[in-house]
Amino acid sequence: MFRNTAVLVIAALTALATFSPAQAREQKQVAITFDDLPVASTIQTDEGWAEITRKLLGTMKRNKLPVVGFVNEGKLYSNDKLNPKRVALLKAWLDADLELGNHTFSHRSLNSTPLAEFQSDVLRGENILHEMTKAKRAKLRYFRHPFLHTGRSLETRQAFESFLNSHGYTVAPVTIDNSEWIFARAYDNARDANDLDAMNRVAAAYIPYIESYFAHFENLSDKLFGRQIKHVLLLHANAINADHFGELVAMMKKRGYKFITLEEALTDTAYRSTDTTTGAYGISWIDRWALTRNVPAGFFKGEPRTPEFVLKLAGVESG
Ligand SMILES: [Zn+2]
Repeated sequence: MFRNTAVLVIAALTALATFSPAQAREQKQVAITFDDLPVASTIQTDEGWAEITRKLLGTMKRNKLPVVGFVNEGKLYSNDKLNPKRVALLKAWLDADLELGNHTFSHRSLNSTPLAEFQSDVLRGENILHEMTKAKRAKLRYFRHPFLHTGRSLETRQAFESFLNSHGYTVAPVTIDNSEWIFARAYDNARDANDLDAMNRVAAAYIPYIESYFAHFENLSDKLFGRQIKHVLLLHANAINADHFGELVAMMKKRGYKFITLEEALTDTAYRSTDTTTGAYGISWIDRWALTRNVPAGFFKGEPRTPEFVLKLAGVESG
């Protein structure tokens, strides 16, 4: 009897010893962020935007996802007048206990806009957000660069980052970058053409496409850090996600992901890696850290491609 118990204890300890590292490897974590709020779509009606918002927030609530949404305040205006129905969409995000961040007023690129102009677009983009977050006793604390463009020169980049700092903002990096916006455009175009079959084909390709980006950046994370860092996923507040975000969430759960806040993700020491990249492209922070470390070109291989039929439907040449 005693002998059997001892065997069981040893078996349990062995199981624990082999289980722990595996579990650590499987405990992947991701913070989900949505850009271009309230809505990025060819749908332009207030009712259409309300429906997209309702569906997105429904999926977030059902799955208890601590999402941060990045706002372009310029989109709150209809014919140069503040549209209360659009402001109400942002309030719905805050009422769902989600956080909002600044994505500039008019979504220009820091790579092609003079720094002073760009900075005033950031300040213009926080007027309503400030009021709304204050009413919620919350703080406006994150900034996401449009197009992930962080400046063509190190000088611009650093000057802008100290500007952000002095205005209380933290940059919201992205690790799982992707071209989901091309799928969103293809989906919008198919719907606008009443082509239900094309919508379904785009949606069917969308989930495996985003999953392939997870696989890609998990691989780069392993190669660069020897572990899975706490990831940040970039998506947009669009129609394809209104209809299919739930399937994406299921895919992430199946891959072993736990959903964390952006604040929690940024506690990962990976985000303190040196990044001196500048250039024309908006890329993942994993790519930036790798470029800063001068990794060989082969390091980046295997980046997923957008299927031809999706590019064609979206009217985009490559992605
Ligand atoms: Zn954007």
